Amino acid sequence: MNLVWHRADLRLHDNPALAEALRTGPAVGLVVLDPNILQNTTPRRRAWFYQNTQALREAYAARGGLLLVRSGLPWEVLPRVAAELGVQRVFAVRNSTPYARFRDQKVGEALPGRLRWLPGQYIHEPGTIVKPDGGGYTVFTPYSKRWWAAPEPVLLEAPAHFPPFSLPPDYDPGAIPQEASDVPLPPAGEAAALKALEVFLRDKLPHYHQTRDGLAGEGVSRLSYYFTLGVLSPRLAARKALQVGGEGARKWVNELCWRDFSGDLLYHRPQMMTQAFDPRWEGLPWNHDSEVFEAWLHGQTGIPVVDACMRELQATGFLSNRGRMVVAQFAVKLALLPWQKCERAFRNLLLDGDNASNLQGWHWAGGLGVDAAPYFRVFNLITQAETHDPQGLWLKRWVPESGGRAQPYKTPVIDLDAARRRYLAAAEGIARG
Ligand SMILES: Cc1cc2nc3c(=O)[nH]c(=O)nc-3n(C[C@H](O)[C@H](O)[C@H](O)COP(=O)(O)OP(=O)(O)OC[C@H]3O[C@@H](n4cnc5c(N)ncnc54)[C@H](O)[C@@H]3O)c2cc1C
Repeated sequence: MNLVWHRADLRLHDNPALAEALRTGPAVGLVVLDPNILQNTTPRRRAWFYQNTQALREAYAARGGLLLVRSGLPWEVLPRVAAELGVQRVFAVRNSTPYARFRDQKVGEALPGRLRWLPGQYIHEPGTIVKPDGGGYTVFTPYSKRWWAAPEPVLLEAPAHFPPFSLPPDYDPGAIPQEASDVPLPPAGEAAALKALEVFLRDKLPHYHQTRDGLAGEGVSRLSYYFTLGVLSPRLAARKALQVGGEGARKWVNELCWRDFSGDLLYHRPQMMTQAFDPRWEGLPWNHDSEVFEAWLHGQTGIPVVDACMRELQATGFLSNRGRMVVAQFAVKLALLPWQKCERAFRNLLLDGDNASNLQGWHWAGGLGVDAAPYFRVFNLITQAETHDPQGLWLKRWVPESGGRAQPYKTPVIDLDAARRRYLAAAEGIARG
């Protein structure tokens, strides 16, 4: 008997760990409810995880398979389940955040020689797109050139049926907790994700390169919350988009390349979790005033575009890429709020919250030393709203007090001009060394 340990790959389609497990024998699936992850996140994100775990269990059952669910530390749970079921091998899709690497090493030590790691979380695995000298890239453009030139991964079908397996009598499959979410959740599970992909490819992909940048997030796929839990294979999504073809498809797949780049950056530099990519930027004169932080977090700064973004995020768990850049720039460059605190709070509000993509986004927008984003590029928050929400409808929806106008609707928590001058003075000093 083999075990498939699902982590950020809550799917049956294009799942190399599942395919390899079934190639060598009967297999059951396992999801471990890891307190180190679940206790450090929010009800909305736990609810989303549980609902997708439930959907995976149903997908297994519909094909005669079984998904076990156990709570506890993976390095204790896996050896226990392996002993109970007489498991020969455990197959899992590789993850590469610092915690995942720590966890997986401990599980490997507890099950020596019995773990098999497979790709599948990304299109091209972190650590595989390397510079000629073997090191990781720090700038997107050269990374993306190599990425586009790399051979496409081989896609895998979901199994039609699971081969018969035997379990000890009355073996408990384990309960999946239910938790209320404070935001409406999208439909869970891979069938819903695949359907959402089809609709996006048909209706929006052809114009994606022209419509992707709006603050209302209307021209985009909103598939990120499926990608984050691996409910949808990014490898399959990219293949299908490229089959549609055109400029929209090329641009969209390039965004999936940004996702891979984010994973790669964190793989090579785990210190990004807590320290600016270029540590000199830790020297900015951070503002530890919790009133400004709370105003930012709850959309009460008085600046319509910032408040609309944060209110939308609080109310829905989603925000456009443009909106994410705006609020991260405001927090880091203008309000000088400690970026680590903002990044964590922001990630926990996002249904698609992901260490690698969020860290990359905060580093990039905050000018903390990733890629070529220059420190002196500071958004004008009025023009951002006017350009990316020209009719003010999105602003008006989330900040009715603004009447859809981009100008502050009350005295802002910080003086924007003074803040810009203060940031640029400090940043120039750091950049000059
Ligand atoms: C400050 C900041 C924080 C962010 N935090 C996250 C996060 O926690 N999780 C997350 O998945 N994305 C994050 N992003 C990236 C991006 O904003 C979202 O992936 C995207 O807005 C999700 O919407 P979508 O699925 O409609 O994207 P689409 O525009 O349809 O793009 C398709 C997919 O490409 C990937 N993608 C798109 N843009 C990026 C990007 N800039 N970096 C990495 N991957 C990208 C996502 O998987 C996305 O689903 C962040 C960006 C910024 C600026």
